[in-house]
Amino acid sequence: MHKKLFIPGPVEIHPDILAAMATPMIGHRMKEYAELHGRVTSGLKKVLFTEGRVFLATSSAFGVMEGAVRNLVGKRCVNFCNGAFSDKWHDVTLRCGKQADAVRFDWGRPVTPEAVEQALATGKYDSMTMIHNETSTGVMSPLAEIAQVMKKFPEVMFIVDTVSSMSALKVPVDELGIDSCIFGVQKAFALPPGLAVFTASEKALQRAAGMEGRGYYFDFMEFATNDTKNNTPSTPCISLVYAMDRQLERIFAEGLEARWARHADLADYIRGWVTSRGFELFPEPEYCSQTLTCSRNSRNIDLASLKKKLAEAGFAFDDGYGKIKGQTFRIAHMGDMTRADLDELLNAITTIVPELA
Ligand SMILES: *Cc1c(COP(=O)(O)O)cnc(C)c1O
Repeated sequence: MHKKLFIPGPVEIHPDILAAMATPMIGHRMKEYAELHGRVTSGLKKVLFTEGRVFLATSSAFGVMEGAVRNLVGKRCVNFCNGAFSDKWHDVTLRCGKQADAVRFDWGRPVTPEAVEQALATGKYDSMTMIHNETSTGVMSPLAEIAQVMKKFPEVMFIVDTVSSMSALKVPVDELGIDSCIFGVQKAFALPPGLAVFTASEKALQRAAGMEGRGYYFDFMEFATNDTKNNTPSTPCISLVYAMDRQLERIFAEGLEARWARHADLADYIRGWVTSRGFELFPEPEYCSQTLTCSRNSRNIDLASLKKKLAEAGFAFDDGYGKIKGQTFRIAHMGDMTRADLDELLNAITTIVPELA
């Protein structure tokens, strides 16, 4: 039996997307691919509000997160860490042989503009990484305010992971001055995993051009050269590019503003549900994610048992990530999710734990 996914990624995939994935194969050096690629990157530019380059990589998000570090970190990087994925990015930066420091926040707290300013004012760094929406803790950091601070440090590469936020709310890449915006498609975009999207500003491409040790697979210069032919350096996951093409059509049919409004509504709905049942939100209310709700297990529900019973009823439920497993639970409301989908989960929960009705 398929378990309907309410975990924060991968998420449930619309049948139209699965059908698009079954499109007969084409060669990536055929003109059919160039047309597909060009259409997809133009659509993505509209969603990302960028006129810069948008590249498609065949990997999960961490492939490009590593690639960005290899291409853009010269002197020293500061990694802002406020959860499992941003902690990991620091580890990845060091593993790439780069000089890097972590600025850490307690889990559940956002990255703050003050901390960004303080770190960059030391003059030690030529690059920074942060995660817009920390999926492990359900925290969305104030990206626009941080972007304001970044404008004071134009020599510092602004590298942002938007894996679980891009398309769910407006993240205007050019206006924010993001040098490389990176996301995998299995979360906010609601596609099967295996495709990652990233941008590179002119400044980022200039930095990359002079960087040693870029490797090959994620070399930004290789992507830039191939992009002029609507192509990729190596064979792309063509089925997923078809899926993205279909998803972009669906996104524009819904309308970007309507899509943002739907996510805002679902976030309110789930926050209302958990708080009215006596659970405390894990982040402070103003930093709660728009795409998933992370709650403290304030009522000491047996989450492992709930997860097991929900699985038997056909639902995949998340009982916390990493060091906050069991102490928190997360309900995803990203991608193509609707209130009706969420009601199915909430009804199943109250059937299993009647005191939550
Ligand atoms: C899931 C996730 C990642 C990891 O992505 P992979 O596609 O598994 O490499 C990175 N960042 C964030 C914010 C995520 O939610």
